[in-house]
Amino acid sequence: MDELSPQQRHNNMAAIHGKDTKPEMVVRRWLWGRGFRYRLNHPRLPGKPDIVMRKYRTCIFVNGCFWHGHEGCRYYTIPKTNTEFWVNKVKRNKERDLKVQHELAAMGWHSITIWECELKPVKREDTLESLAYTLNKIFLQDRTVKQYEILEEEPMMAAEDIADYNKKNINDV
Ligand SMILES: [Zn+2]
Repeated sequence: MDELSPQQRHNNMAAIHGKDTKPEMVVRRWLWGRGFRYRLNHPRLPGKPDIVMRKYRTCIFVNGCFWHGHEGCRYYTIPKTNTEFWVNKVKRNKERDLKVQHELAAMGWHSITIWECELKPVKREDTLESLAYTLNKIFLQDRTVKQYEILEEEPMMAAEDIADYNKKNINDV
């Protein structure tokens, strides 16, 4: 019965400990190869994101289709037995995912979810290319927003200065 190859055993152990599971590794290796740098399981961020990219203020979650309830996905099928248990379990996971994303957004972080099915060999390259595209878009957008904010702040300060100046002049009279 217990005829696992060392590699299978390793994969099983990795899956049990929630670390270095294969789909996550696929994303990491690809990002690294493309020159993107990241941190793993950032301790201070909600939801312990799988991959944290500071430069892009982005957290990447690599989600298993079953555990995180990927709607409309053929890998998300509720077992015929203990149905209620599984439905509730997946529902709770989804609620937690959403809460984490809101918390991250409130802290100014972007969240990107990659589903395991999107990393199957046929879709992998497209998924990762679009990830790179999204990251670059986020980077440019954030910089544009910051520049815009600076431009907006300056006239405001000038207006306050003028108001102060006027007040002072009135008091002086
Ligand atoms: Zn899926």
